[in-house]
Amino acid sequence: MELFKQEKVSEHITRIKTPFGVSMFLVQGDRKALLIDTGMGIGDLREFIEETVSVPYEVVLTHGHCDHAGGASQFDEVYLNPADFALEKWHASREHRISDVFTGPFPVPEGITETNFVPQRTAPYTPLDPAMSFHLGDCTVSFIEVPGHTQGCLVPLIKEDGVMIIGDALGENTLMHFRESTTVQTYQRSIERLLEVQDDYSLLIRFHGAGASEHRILQDMHDLCDEIMNHTDAAVPGNMMGIPGKWGREKEHPGKAGNMIYNPERIFDEQEDKA
Ligand SMILES: [Zn+2]
Repeated sequence: MELFKQEKVSEHITRIKTPFGVSMFLVQGDRKALLIDTGMGIGDLREFIEETVSVPYEVVLTHGHCDHAGGASQFDEVYLNPADFALEKWHASREHRISDVFTGPFPVPEGITETNFVPQRTAPYTPLDPAMSFHLGDCTVSFIEVPGHTQGCLVPLIKEDGVMIIGDALGENTLMHFRESTTVQTYQRSIERLLEVQDDYSLLIRFHGAGASEHRILQDMHDLCDEIMNHTDAAVPGNMMGIPGKWGREKEHPGKAGNMIYNPERIFDEQEDKA
Protein backbone atom coordinates (compact mmCIF):
# COMPACT_ATOMS: atom_id res chain seq x y z
CA MET A 1 0.00 0.00 0.00
CA GLU A 2 1.31 3.41 -0.99
CA LEU A 3 0.98 5.78 1.96
CA PHE A 4 3.04 8.64 0.51
CA LYS A 5 2.86 10.01 -3.03
CA GLN A 6 4.95 12.87 -4.39
CA GLU A 7 3.79 15.65 -6.64
CA LYS A 8 5.97 18.54 -7.81
CA VAL A 9 4.53 21.97 -6.88
CA SER A 10 7.29 24.35 -7.99
CA GLU A 11 11.02 24.34 -8.69
CA HIS A 12 11.98 23.53 -5.09
CA ILE A 13 8.76 22.25 -3.54
CA THR A 14 7.25 18.76 -3.57
CA ARG A 15 3.87 17.91 -2.08
CA ILE A 16 3.76 14.58 -0.23
CA LYS A 17 0.19 13.31 -0.32
CA THR A 18 -1.30 10.83 2.11
CA PRO A 19 -4.67 8.99 1.92
CA PHE A 20 -5.81 10.74 5.13
CA GLY A 21 -6.76 14.11 3.66
CA VAL A 22 -3.55 15.85 4.68
CA SER A 23 -0.30 16.60 2.81
CA MET A 24 3.22 17.60 3.79
CA PHE A 25 5.71 19.67 1.85
CA LEU A 26 9.36 19.00 1.15
CA VAL A 27 11.46 22.01 0.14
CA GLN A 28 14.72 20.96 -1.50
CA GLY A 29 17.60 23.35 -2.05
CA ASP A 30 20.93 22.38 -3.57
CA ARG A 31 22.57 22.12 -0.12
CA LYS A 32 19.81 21.23 2.33
CA ALA A 33 16.15 20.27 2.50
CA LEU A 34 13.30 21.08 4.86
CA LEU A 35 10.32 18.86 5.62
CA ILE A 36 7.31 20.98 6.56
CA ASP A 37 4.89 18.94 8.74
CA THR A 38 4.77 15.21 9.41
CA GLY A 39 1.12 14.25 8.75
CA MET A 40 -0.96 11.91 10.92
CA GLY A 41 1.93 9.65 11.85
CA ILE A 42 0.81 6.60 9.91
CA GLY A 43 3.51 4.55 8.19
CA ASP A 44 7.24 5.18 7.84
CA LEU A 45 7.54 8.80 6.71
CA ARG A 46 11.19 8.97 7.69
CA GLU A 47 12.10 6.11 5.37
CA PHE A 48 10.19 7.79 2.53
CA ILE A 49 11.96 11.13 3.09
CA GLU A 50 15.38 9.53 3.27
CA GLU A 51 14.76 7.68 0.00
CA THR A 52 13.68 10.96 -1.59
CA VAL A 53 16.32 13.50 -0.44
CA SER A 54 20.03 13.31 -1.11
CA VAL A 55 21.05 16.30 1.06
CA PRO A 56 20.84 16.82 4.85
CA TYR A 57 17.35 17.81 5.96
CA GLU A 58 15.56 19.42 8.90
CA VAL A 59 11.94 19.17 10.05
CA VAL A 60 9.49 21.92 11.10
CA LEU A 61 5.78 21.90 12.00
CA THR A 62 3.38 24.67 10.96
CA HIS A 63 1.30 24.11 14.12
CA GLY A 64 0.60 21.58 16.84
CA HIS A 65 -2.46 19.77 15.47
CA CYS A 66 -2.35 15.98 15.25
CA ASP A 67 -2.56 15.78 11.45
CA HIS A 68 0.61 17.90 11.19
CA ALA A 69 2.60 16.74 14.24
CA GLY A 70 1.59 13.06 14.10
CA GLY A 71 4.83 11.72 12.61
CA ALA A 72 7.21 13.93 14.62
CA SER A 73 8.47 11.09 16.83
CA GLN A 74 10.30 9.57 13.85
CA PHE A 75 12.76 12.47 13.59
CA ASP A 76 15.59 13.40 15.94
CA GLU A 77 15.06 17.16 15.90
CA VAL A 78 11.76 18.88 15.09
CA TYR A 79 11.05 22.61 15.28
CA LEU A 80 7.72 23.92 16.60
CA ASN A 81 6.54 27.37 17.69
CA PRO A 82 6.49 27.25 21.54
CA ALA A 83 3.01 28.84 21.45
CA ASP A 84 1.75 25.39 20.32
CA PHE A 85 3.80 23.20 22.70
CA ALA A 86 0.89 22.62 25.11
CA LEU A 87 -1.56 22.02 22.25
CA GLU A 88 0.62 19.33 20.67
CA LYS A 89 0.80 17.45 23.99
CA TRP A 90 -2.91 16.59 24.08
CA HIS A 91 -3.84 16.92 20.43
CA ALA A 92 -1.17 14.70 18.84
CA SER A 93 -1.48 11.79 21.26
CA ARG A 94 -1.70 8.40 19.59
CA GLU A 95 -5.24 7.84 20.99
CA HIS A 96 -6.45 11.17 19.64
CA ARG A 97 -4.95 10.48 16.18
CA ILE A 98 -6.48 6.99 16.04
CA SER A 99 -9.95 8.28 16.92
CA ASP A 100 -9.55 11.19 14.47
CA VAL A 101 -8.69 8.88 11.56
CA PHE A 102 -11.25 6.17 12.27
CA THR A 103 -14.14 8.61 12.88
CA GLY A 104 -13.03 11.20 10.30
CA PRO A 105 -14.47 11.98 6.86
CA PHE A 106 -11.85 10.06 4.84
CA PRO A 107 -12.32 6.32 4.27
CA VAL A 108 -9.45 4.50 5.97
CA PRO A 109 -7.47 2.55 3.35
CA GLU A 110 -7.80 -1.21 3.60
CA GLY A 111 -5.10 -2.79 5.71
CA ILE A 112 -4.55 0.26 7.94
CA THR A 113 -4.92 -0.63 11.61
CA GLU A 114 -3.87 0.95 14.89
CA THR A 115 -0.50 -0.79 14.58
CA ASN A 116 0.42 1.54 11.69
CA PHE A 117 0.30 4.64 13.94
CA VAL A 118 3.72 5.76 15.18
CA PRO A 119 3.93 6.76 18.88
CA GLN A 120 3.64 10.38 19.98
CA ARG A 121 6.90 12.29 20.23
CA THR A 122 8.34 12.27 23.75
CA ALA A 123 11.63 14.09 22.97
CA PRO A 124 11.30 17.86 23.40
CA TYR A 125 10.64 20.02 20.37
CA THR A 126 13.19 22.64 19.38
CA PRO A 127 11.62 26.09 19.85
CA LEU A 128 11.07 27.73 16.47
CA ASP A 129 11.54 31.48 16.59
CA PRO A 130 9.24 32.72 13.80
CA ALA A 131 11.93 35.23 12.83
CA MET A 132 14.37 32.46 11.87
CA SER A 133 14.96 31.22 8.32
CA PHE A 134 16.20 27.93 6.93
CA HIS A 135 18.85 28.50 4.27
CA LEU A 136 18.82 25.55 1.91
CA GLY A 137 21.36 26.77 -0.66
CA ASP A 138 19.55 28.09 -3.70
CA CYS A 139 16.34 28.76 -1.74
CA THR A 140 15.30 29.85 1.76
CA VAL A 141 12.24 29.14 3.90
CA SER A 142 11.08 31.95 6.21
CA PHE A 143 7.90 32.29 8.28
CA ILE A 144 5.09 34.64 9.15
CA GLU A 145 3.41 34.15 12.50
CA VAL A 146 -0.36 33.96 12.00
CA PRO A 147 -2.14 33.29 15.31
CA GLY A 148 -5.69 32.29 14.41
CA HIS A 149 -6.45 28.64 13.71
CA THR A 150 -4.02 27.92 16.59
CA GLN A 151 -1.99 30.29 18.76
CA GLY A 152 1.31 29.19 17.23
CA CYS A 153 0.26 28.82 13.60
CA LEU A 154 2.96 29.69 11.05
CA VAL A 155 2.86 30.34 7.31
CA PRO A 156 6.09 29.26 5.56
CA LEU A 157 7.30 31.41 2.65
CA ILE A 158 9.56 30.30 -0.21
CA LYS A 159 10.31 33.55 -1.97
CA GLU A 160 12.43 32.07 -4.77
CA ASP A 161 9.41 30.07 -5.94
CA GLY A 162 6.83 32.75 -5.11
CA VAL A 163 5.08 30.23 -2.84
CA MET A 164 3.24 30.92 0.42
CA ILE A 165 2.19 27.76 2.29
CA ILE A 166 -1.04 29.08 3.82
CA GLY A 167 -1.70 25.66 5.29
CA ASP A 168 -4.56 25.57 7.78
CA ALA A 169 -4.31 29.34 8.33
CA LEU A 170 -6.76 30.28 5.54
CA GLY A 171 -9.10 28.29 3.32
CA GLU A 172 -12.68 27.39 2.52
CA ASN A 173 -12.99 25.55 5.83
CA THR A 174 -10.86 27.70 8.12
CA LEU A 175 -11.45 26.31 11.60
CA MET A 176 -11.43 29.21 14.05
CA HIS A 177 -13.89 27.77 16.56
CA PHE A 178 -11.51 25.65 18.60
CA ARG A 179 -10.52 26.52 22.14
CA GLU A 180 -6.95 26.77 20.83
CA SER A 181 -8.00 29.34 18.20
CA THR A 182 -7.64 33.10 18.69
CA THR A 183 -10.35 35.74 18.48
CA VAL A 184 -11.42 36.93 15.03
CA GLN A 185 -9.85 40.31 15.82
CA THR A 186 -6.41 38.79 16.48
CA TYR A 187 -6.76 36.63 13.38
CA GLN A 188 -7.44 39.68 11.23
CA ARG A 189 -4.14 41.22 12.38
CA SER A 190 -2.41 37.99 11.33
CA ILE A 191 -3.91 38.25 7.84
CA GLU A 192 -2.62 41.83 7.65
CA ARG A 193 0.92 40.51 8.01
CA LEU A 194 0.34 38.23 5.02
CA LEU A 195 -1.19 41.07 2.98
CA GLU A 196 1.96 43.14 3.55
CA VAL A 197 4.08 40.63 1.61
CA GLN A 198 1.43 39.33 -0.79
CA ASP A 199 2.99 40.82 -3.94
CA ASP A 200 5.99 38.48 -3.66
CA TYR A 201 3.81 35.35 -3.71
CA SER A 202 1.74 34.14 -6.64
CA LEU A 203 0.99 30.58 -5.47
CA LEU A 204 -0.82 29.92 -2.18
CA ILE A 205 -0.81 26.25 -1.23
CA ARG A 206 -2.59 24.23 1.47
CA PHE A 207 -2.31 20.92 3.29
CA HIS A 208 -5.95 19.96 2.79
CA GLY A 209 -8.67 20.12 0.16
CA ALA A 210 -8.01 21.55 -3.29
CA GLY A 211 -4.33 22.09 -2.55
CA ALA A 212 -4.16 25.72 -3.68
CA SER A 213 -6.19 28.88 -3.14
CA GLU A 214 -6.88 31.93 -5.23
CA HIS A 215 -4.64 34.86 -4.36
CA ARG A 216 -7.67 36.95 -3.45
CA ILE A 217 -8.32 34.74 -0.42
CA LEU A 218 -6.06 37.00 1.67
CA GLN A 219 -8.14 40.13 1.10
CA ASP A 220 -11.44 38.25 1.10
CA MET A 221 -10.70 36.65 4.47
CA HIS A 222 -9.62 40.02 5.85
CA ASP A 223 -12.95 41.46 4.67
CA LEU A 224 -14.81 38.54 6.25
CA CYS A 225 -13.22 39.36 9.63
CA ASP A 226 -14.60 42.91 9.25
CA GLU A 227 -18.07 41.54 8.50
CA ILE A 228 -17.96 39.25 11.54
CA MET A 229 -16.81 42.10 13.78
CA ASN A 230 -19.60 44.33 12.39
CA HIS A 231 -22.12 41.48 12.75
CA THR A 232 -22.97 41.75 9.05
CA ASP A 233 -21.68 38.27 8.14
CA ALA A 234 -23.98 35.37 7.22
CA ALA A 235 -23.54 33.78 10.72
CA VAL A 236 -24.80 30.39 9.53
CA PRO A 237 -25.00 27.93 12.46
CA GLY A 238 -22.62 25.02 11.94
CA ASN A 239 -20.69 22.24 13.62
CA MET A 240 -17.24 20.95 12.75
CA MET A 241 -15.61 18.05 14.54
CA GLY A 242 -18.34 18.02 17.17
CA ILE A 243 -17.86 21.69 18.07
CA PRO A 244 -20.60 24.21 17.25
CA GLY A 245 -19.85 27.60 15.71
CA LYS A 246 -21.02 30.01 13.03
CA TRP A 247 -19.93 30.17 9.41
CA GLY A 248 -19.11 33.68 8.25
CA ARG A 249 -20.30 33.02 4.71
CA GLU A 250 -22.97 30.83 3.15
CA LYS A 251 -21.59 27.54 1.82
CA GLU A 252 -21.89 28.90 -1.72
CA HIS A 253 -20.39 32.37 -1.86
CA PRO A 254 -19.67 33.23 -5.48
CA GLY A 255 -17.14 35.99 -6.05
CA LYS A 256 -15.49 35.56 -2.64
CA ALA A 257 -12.72 33.18 -1.64
CA GLY A 258 -12.50 31.54 1.78
CA ASN A 259 -14.80 30.91 4.69
CA MET A 260 -14.45 30.28 8.42
CA ILE A 261 -16.34 28.80 11.33
CA TYR A 262 -15.90 30.86 14.50
CA ASN A 263 -17.06 31.01 18.09
CA PRO A 264 -19.45 33.99 18.47
CA GLU A 265 -18.26 34.37 22.07
CA ARG A 266 -14.74 35.01 20.87
CA ILE A 267 -14.86 37.69 18.21
CA PHE A 268 -13.17 40.56 20.05
CA ASP A 269 -9.98 40.55 22.13
CA GLU A 270 -11.84 42.24 25.01
CA GLN A 271 -14.26 39.27 25.23
CA GLU A 272 -11.17 37.16 25.72
CA ASP A 273 -9.84 39.40 28.50
CA LYS A 274 -13.10 39.09 30.45
CA ALA A 275 -13.22 35.28 30.14
ZN1 LIG B 1 -4.87 22.42 12.08
